[in-house]
Amino acid sequence: MIGLEIHVQLKTRTKMFCRCANGWGDEPNTRTCPVCLAHPGTLPVPNRQAIEWTIKLGLALGCEIAPRAVFHRKHYVYPDLAKSYQLSQYDEPLCTGGSFVVPGAEGEREIGIVRAHLEEDAAKTIHVGGAAGRIAGADYSLVDFNRGGVPLVEIVTQPDVRSPDEARRFLQLLRQTVVELGISDAEMEKGSLRCDANVSVREVGETGFRTKTELKNMNSFKFVSDGIAAELERQASIYERGDDVVQQTLHYDPSSGEVAPLRSKEYADDYRYFPEPDLVPVEPARELVERLRNEIPEPPGGRIRRLEPDVGFSLASELVSAGRDPLLAPITAHGVDPKAAANFLMNDYTGDGTAAPDPALIAETIKKRRELPPDVYRQAAEAASVGNATAVAELLEQTAITDTGELDRLIDQVVAENESQVAAYRGGKQGVLGFLVGQVMKKTQGKADPRRVNELLRERLDT
Ligand SMILES: [Zn+2]
Repeated sequence: MIGLEIHVQLKTRTKMFCRCANGWGDEPNTRTCPVCLAHPGTLPVPNRQAIEWTIKLGLALGCEIAPRAVFHRKHYVYPDLAKSYQLSQYDEPLCTGGSFVVPGAEGEREIGIVRAHLEEDAAKTIHVGGAAGRIAGADYSLVDFNRGGVPLVEIVTQPDVRSPDEARRFLQLLRQTVVELGISDAEMEKGSLRCDANVSVREVGETGFRTKTELKNMNSFKFVSDGIAAELERQASIYERGDDVVQQTLHYDPSSGEVAPLRSKEYADDYRYFPEPDLVPVEPARELVERLRNEIPEPPGGRIRRLEPDVGFSLASELVSAGRDPLLAPITAHGVDPKAAANFLMNDYTGDGTAAPDPALIAETIKKRRELPPDVYRQAAEAASVGNATAVAELLEQTAITDTGELDRLIDQVVAENESQVAAYRGGKQGVLGFLVGQVMKKTQGKADPRRVNELLRERLDT
């Protein structure tokens, strides 16, 4: 039984409650002001954009948007929290009760969304001198307040996720949704998308839930699925030897593949939530919610289902997770088979959004693939991915040497120049063939299809 808690850093121009710039990678403590450093007498002013974007995300997750939401103070003491409380939302969050569809190879799964609420991020603690930046064994710790006060949306799912792989696919599709909404970079390695998982196990057929543990801050899709898999196994083995799982927060260490306790879990009572007296409740107008609803792109689950008959489930899922599915139809419109187009988009496409790809050029490149030497094909794929028509036209003219007569002549030369290798191959050393293929390719300056050369050489040497 897996439930996920996802934090998404919004890429608003300014922070949640002050005018400091919201950005990544600056000198530490250069983006701070009396408000986000919690000087006495300062007052928070909510960021309208952050509230609108949270509503938008809530709508994309099928949530109800509350007519009235309240910011609460969540108290805890830690060096990364100057106020000693975080402004968050408690029992009146902006978005509640949605669901998100995750298609699988065997039908689709609907993951319930408990809530999505808006809060401010804590500052970043940097532990110096310890192993791998961990607090354990560190000589001292520094605090960078640039991140303090950055708007953060927390999304909490029902414990509906049933496998580590499903957790990974849910997260990939959620990330793609967030990126398409244009509200966050959602990059796990930079921490603008963070995921914790609540994990418990039970016997087949058992109803109800056993004690759960919380896995913290797994910072890649792979670590999320590996970490959950390790924890499921740990819990199962505890029950198998007749012990009980203890509720605690755990850290997954990707280098050892093991989970270790981080701290005991706080309960809501410990935080002494109370409404922030310096802020009025958020009451989004119905017209605003309807306007935002119209800006929501089609959810990824439906797009995967639509592409599946043409390209199969796994390619459809990869395409949508990578956000490359909108390019598929424009390419197939130029007479390319959907599977070939999908494979191109997943394996050969190099566009990164800096220049527009040209579907017609991509289609031409795919069609000429068999006639092109591999290196030339790769360069053409790159040029077509950024719409460089001149380069594609030049490259597509460099077709491979397909004239068997010319290849035969070069093979004659190579066989004559490499008598000992030829003898070794005929004596049973299959591996030598690769070397001989390489020699022929060199003579063609890479302008032959190595598979064709391989065939011709084999025919020559095996007779
Ligand atoms: Zn500030």
